[in-house]
Amino acid sequence: MIIKPEEITSIIKNEIEKYENRIETVDSGTIIQIGDGIARVYGLEDCMEGELLKFPNGVYGMALNLEQDNVGCVLLGQEEGIREGDVVTRMRKVVEVPVGEALLGRVVNSLGLPIDGKGPINTTATRPIETEAPGVIDRQSVKQPLQTGIKAIDSMIPIGKGQRELIIGDRQTGKTAIVLDTILNQKGKGIICIYVAIGQKQSTVAHIVNTLTEMGAMDYTIVVSATASESAPLQFIAPYSGCSMGEYFMHQGKDVLIVYDDLSKHAVAYRTMSLLLRRPPGREAYPGDVFYIHSRLLERAAKLSAELGGGSLTALPIIETLAGDITAYIPTNVISITDGQIFLESELFYAGQRPAVNAGISVSRVGGSAQIHAMRKLSGTLRIELAQYRELAAFAQFGSDLDKETRKRLEKGKRLVEVLKQDQYKPMPVEKQILILYAAINNYLAEIKVSSIREFEKQFLEYMDTHHRSVASSIAETGKLSEEAEAELRLAIEEFKKIFLSQQ
Ligand code: ATP
Ligand code: MG
Repeated sequence: MIIKPEEITSIIKNEIEKYENRIETVDSGTIIQIGDGIARVYGLEDCMEGELLKFPNGVYGMALNLEQDNVGCVLLGQEEGIREGDVVTRMRKVVEVPVGEALLGRVVNSLGLPIDGKGPINTTATRPIETEAPGVIDRQSVKQPLQTGIKAIDSMIPIGKGQRELIIGDRQTGKTAIVLDTILNQKGKGIICIYVAIGQKQSTVAHIVNTLTEMGAMDYTIVVSATASESAPLQFIAPYSGCSMGEYFMHQGKDVLIVYDDLSKHAVAYRTMSLLLRRPPGREAYPGDVFYIHSRLLERAAKLSAELGGGSLTALPIIETLAGDITAYIPTNVISITDGQIFLESELFYAGQRPAVNAGISVSRVGGSAQIHAMRKLSGTLRIELAQYRELAAFAQFGSDLDKETRKRLEKGKRLVEVLKQDQYKPMPVEKQILILYAAINNYLAEIKVSSIREFEKQFLEYMDTHHRSVASSIAETGKLSEEAEAELRLAIEEFKKIFLSQQ
C-alpha cells in the first residue's frame, strides 16, 4: 500500500474544515420560516427540548418541536425585525428564571423580569422553569394546616401545607377573592406567597397588586403576571416560572403558597401555541398532552421530608367553568390531579351566601389530618348538620306543615349558613373561627334573629377579645379546646347573649 502525503494532508484539511463547520451548525441555525410567534429553524442538530434560543433582535425563544430536519420554537417576545434567513443562537440551557429573596414584593413577567418600575432585581441565583417533581421518598404526608382565614373552608374543607386544592367555579363567583384572602391571612406567619396571573386583564392584575400592597401583603409576596395582552408562550410558561421561584424557597425549608389564576386560560394558551406549532389537535382542539402540562406542574407541590429540610409548596390552582359544568375536559383533568376541590356556585353567590362555597360537593382529600384538634371536633358535626339542613330546606319548600323538630333543625341550619358568611378581605384567625362556630353548632344562637347573626358574631368576638381572651389564646397555643376553656366559653356565650338580647 502506497501512502501519498498529499492525500493525507487533503484529508486532514478536509477534516479541519468540517470540524469548524460542525461547531457552527450545532451552535446556531437559520430561520426557514417565521410567523404567528413561531419560528422554524434549520441546523440546530442536538437542540434540547425547552432550550433557550437567541434571535437577532435580542428576543429569546424556546425550542419545543424537535423534528427531523428543523426545530419549531416559540418566541418569548416581539416578532418584529426577525426575518427568514436570520441566524439563531443556542444558549445551551433550558429556559430559567431568577429566584431568591430579592423577588419578594416585586411584580415580574414570565421570564422573571421586573415590570413594576422599581428597578432591577438583584439576584444571581436562577432555576430552570421546568424541573422534576420531588419523588415519593423525598416527601412526607401533609400534616400541618395552612389556614385560609375563611370559616367555610378552614372548618369543612381544610387545606394542609404541601396540598394541591383546586378552586373551581363560574366567572365572578369569588374565586380570586378566596385566594387573595388566603394570601392576606399568611401575614406574619412566615409563609411566602406567589400569585401567578395567567391571561387576565391588566387592570385586574393592577387592582390585585394594589390591594396586596395596601394590606401590607406584598412584603412576602411575588406576583408573576402574564396578562391577556402577552403572547401565548409567555402565558404558557408563567406558572412554571412561578413554581420555580417557589421551589427555591421550599428547598430552603420554608413554606410557600402558590396560586395559579387560572389554569383554564393556561390551557387555552397552550392550545393556541400547539395549534400554531401544528401539533395534532384532540378533544376540544386541545393537544393530546394537555393533561400532562397540568399534572407535571401540580406534582411539583410537595411537603418535603425532614432530611430535605421539611419545606413545603402548597398549590391553589383556579379553574373557571362554564355554567357550572365541571365535566368539561380541562375541569375533569385538573379535578383528577388535585387533592380536592372547593366548588363555588353562582346561585349561592347571587343569593348572598359569600363566599359561595358549596360544601356538599367540595372536598379536601388530605387536609383533614392537618386540621387542628379543636376545629376537627366541630367540623364533622357542621358538615352533617349543613347537609341535613339542605335536604330539609329543599323539602320544606313544598309545604308549611312542619313538625317542631324539623322547624328547629331548619332554624339552626339557617343560622349555621349565616355564620359561614364572611366579607372579603377579612380573614379570621382559626381560634376566633372556633369560638363562633362552637356557639352556632351547640345551638346557642337559637334566640338570635337570623338577620342579626352577623352583628352578633362581630360583637361577640370583640367581647371575647376584651373579657375572655384566654380562651382564644389557649386554643391558638395548644390547638385544643380544653375542658376549662370550654366551660369558660359556654359561660361567656351565655353572658354575652344576655347583653346582646337586651340591646336589641
Ligand atoms: P373572574 O371570573 O372574573 O376571575 P372571580 O371568580 O375571580 O371572577 P372575584 O373577582 O373574586 O371572582 O369576585 C367577584 C366579585 O365578587 C368581586 O367584585 C368581589 O369583590 C365580590 N366578592 C367576592 N367575594 C366576596 C365576599 N366574600 N363578600 C362580598 N363580595 C365578594
Ligand atoms: Mg378571578
